[in-house]
Amino acid sequence: MLYLDNSATTPTHQEVVDAMLPYWTDVFGNPSSKYYSQAVDAKIAVNQARQSVAELVNVKADEVIFTSGATESNNFLLKGIAAAHSSRGNQIISSVAEHPSVLETLRYLETQGFDVIYLSVDLYGRIDLKDLERALLKKPTVLVTLLWGNNELGSLNPIKEASELANQYGSFFHTDATQVIGKVNVDLEKLPYVQFLSASAHKFYGPKGIGAAIVRKDDMGLSLKVTPLLHGGAQENGYRSGTHAVPLIVGMGKAAEIAYSRLGEHIKQLVKLEDRLSKLLMKQFGDVIHFNNDKQNKIPGILSVQFKGLNNEVLCKELAPVMAVSTGSACSSSKPSHVLQEIGCSMEQLRSTIRFSLSPYQSETDLDIFLDL
Ligand code: PMP
Repeated sequence: MLYLDNSATTPTHQEVVDAMLPYWTDVFGNPSSKYYSQAVDAKIAVNQARQSVAELVNVKADEVIFTSGATESNNFLLKGIAAAHSSRGNQIISSVAEHPSVLETLRYLETQGFDVIYLSVDLYGRIDLKDLERALLKKPTVLVTLLWGNNELGSLNPIKEASELANQYGSFFHTDATQVIGKVNVDLEKLPYVQFLSASAHKFYGPKGIGAAIVRKDDMGLSLKVTPLLHGGAQENGYRSGTHAVPLIVGMGKAAEIAYSRLGEHIKQLVKLEDRLSKLLMKQFGDVIHFNNDKQNKIPGILSVQFKGLNNEVLCKELAPVMAVSTGSACSSSKPSHVLQEIGCSMEQLRSTIRFSLSPYQSETDLDIFLDL
């Protein structure tokens, strides 16, 4: 079976599983305990993993906060920044094409007195910087939060320019980078105005249930304030209480190490595979397909394809024995895709769309064989 739903989740890399194993059994200590090796070694492992995640996005190790995944990171950062910095303004700016973990958090913040502007997106799901500036001009804004790479279309938002604009108008900037990590070069050293970022290990061959929130430092070298979601034992510098999930953290660290060291090679392979898949689809179904995604300025390896006249659910089920694909995002699979609606797809076009998301661990031959089937 060929798995082409890597944007929903990825298999845990064998090296990652191997790295995690001792931390379920031998090194089972609580890293907040002291004195004995099970605890001390667990703490060392957590810190090593923190270093590897920091390297992957080019921040300092103490700017990495482990969470249970990107949903938690988005909730923690959005709610926590809004609560801690509401004196900056009560406006938040985002886009209509965000992931539900951002959109639903923003809807909650609206009930808490924040005004949220949802910027519209173009044909490929990207915001327009002029719209962002117009929104920033309206009134003091506490936060701009923008998806770095779209999970259904792959399109990349202009994160550098948007974060510079936000800074110009005195607003913080957060990006949900869940889909781009391991597939795009994420270098926060070059993006000084991206103060906050969300990531999730299971999108880059790490385990499920672990992620990170990046909280950077201000000009004085002090960590930016974010009100915690979870109160308790003050782990993670007080940002996120709760006993560390050591095996999962170690797994995320190993996955980050692999993603970092193979980034160039993985990008090349994904570009090659995407090209092959588009060509094969065009050759076999050219007269009945339409690509929703842009061809450039996107995450390599994500294709969103309409099969005119076919129902996507039926097609996914029919393909399931040989090929795992999805109708769109796994996180909103029970509802018609809001992203495709926002880029102007009709209900009919939306119901005939399939998302293919590739893995750099696949080969062109894999694609040839399964497309033949
Ligand atoms: N943001 C984006 C863009 C995503 O694709 C996902 C996962 N589908 C999430 C957030 C949520 O991540 P997690 O599964 O780690 O909660």
